[in-house]
Amino acid sequence: MAKYDYDLFVIGAGSGGVRAARLAAISGARVAVAEEHRVGGTCVIRGCVPKKFMVYASEVSHHLKTAKSYGWSIGEAKFDWEAFLAEKDQEIARLSGVYVRNLQNAGAELAHGKARLTDAHTVEIEGVGAKTADKILIATGGRPWMPKDLPGIEHAITSNEAFHLPKLPKSIVIAGGGYIAVEFAGIFNGLGVEVTLVHRGPNVLRGFDDDVRSHLTEEMEKRGIKVMLACQHKSIEKTASGLVSHFTEGHHCESEAVMMCVGREPYVEGLGVESAGVALTERGAVKVDEYSRTNVKNIWAVGDVTDRINLTPVAIREGAAFAETEFSGNPTAFDHETVASAVFSQPPIGSLGLSEADARRQYGKVDIYLARLKPMKYAFGGDERSLLKLVVEAETERILGCHVVGPDAPEIIQMAAIALKMGVTKPQWDATCAVHPTLAEELVTMREKHVPMAMGQVA
Ligand code: NDP
Repeated sequence: MAKYDYDLFVIGAGSGGVRAARLAAISGARVAVAEEHRVGGTCVIRGCVPKKFMVYASEVSHHLKTAKSYGWSIGEAKFDWEAFLAEKDQEIARLSGVYVRNLQNAGAELAHGKARLTDAHTVEIEGVGAKTADKILIATGGRPWMPKDLPGIEHAITSNEAFHLPKLPKSIVIAGGGYIAVEFAGIFNGLGVEVTLVHRGPNVLRGFDDDVRSHLTEEMEKRGIKVMLACQHKSIEKTASGLVSHFTEGHHCESEAVMMCVGREPYVEGLGVESAGVALTERGAVKVDEYSRTNVKNIWAVGDVTDRINLTPVAIREGAAFAETEFSGNPTAFDHETVASAVFSQPPIGSLGLSEADARRQYGKVDIYLARLKPMKYAFGGDERSLLKLVVEAETERILGCHVVGPDAPEIIQMAAIALKMGVTKPQWDATCAVHPTLAEELVTMREKHVPMAMGQVA
């Protein structure tokens, strides 16, 4: 008789957990997965996937404007929030079902209920009971973080609720300047909601290239989003007509809804890490090494709960590397270097490698190639501009960073990521013939080094 109920017990059926569970089960291991919500995790249920449907829905209003300039006359366009939600929820349910079937087809068992570690080999699942396992993988993800001591915070929503609002508000104040804040600012703006984005920093998207940050802010403002920088909530007051956000700078703003997008935290609450002796980082994430091993020798963790790079494809690769190492006898560590990311703001961003500022800090002398142009689609009207930027190490000519703001930027950056991962140099990049007429061709036709404007010079 086997010593444990399972070879592997996975806590959390999101992107990372499901990938690890499937691969381990396919390799012949006895695997179980516990999930307290719906199978699919943040990405499928309340993140990337429904978010992208919302982006598509909101982009239609911009397409309708462009349509006029192309000779189309369209009657009164109306958006039906409830009809959209029904379509979206149907697709999310279908995808969640696909995840369940994939697990079952691989031979993994699924347990519905909140799982808690009671010791290093035992998991107590609410409504199911205790199960033991030789190896345990923590893949519980993250959840929105809220400043709990902010007066009136109970009136604010997070991204979790934004996917299921009973009705679309007429106006919304969005707090934060990260991925989620700028993405939802674009979504609500496109859907006709009056949007005010309030961010404590000097510009949105800290950590991104500075040209990208200011370009996006300009484009958001052109679309009618009010961006308030260096500004922070002091309180949220509920009045007869809606909500009033009071800011530390003294002014205030009325809106129907307030959405907090001020970061996410690793989801370890109620997980029983202390009972199993699993160590956490200072930020409360499960502490792991490059093989996703925790300090407890039979417990691993992948994905957002480890707070490394909090992106779905990264969690998937970490989960796959864990399964490959532990169940296929092939030690594999996922390489977290040069991971591309996309922000589905409007216009969207594709970003890869180092920002100009980070490259200068790390490499000293760098060459910059920069283009700002009107996308061809807007030739008949509209003042949207795209930005393309390459950051090149001066001495070796290796491309250190590639940044695009404009239509299809996320698609473009995925392909650029292959070249950068291979260590492409600018001459190799330039030897690539352009595809015409595209936005991406600008990336391989930039020959002139960008010289930053001297102080006082006017653009
Ligand atoms: P981010 O970490 O991207 O941004 C958090 C924002 O909140 C920052 O602008 C931060 O400001 C601000 N903030 C933090 N604390 C406070 C506070 N106390 N008061 C006011 N503002 C505050 O978090 P998100 O929640 O937007 O996203 C979480 C992660 O999820 C992302 O980092 C990303 O990894 C992932 N994600 C990826 C997406 C994609 O791939 N397209 C989409 C959505 C999420 P400051 O910069 O000053 O610290």
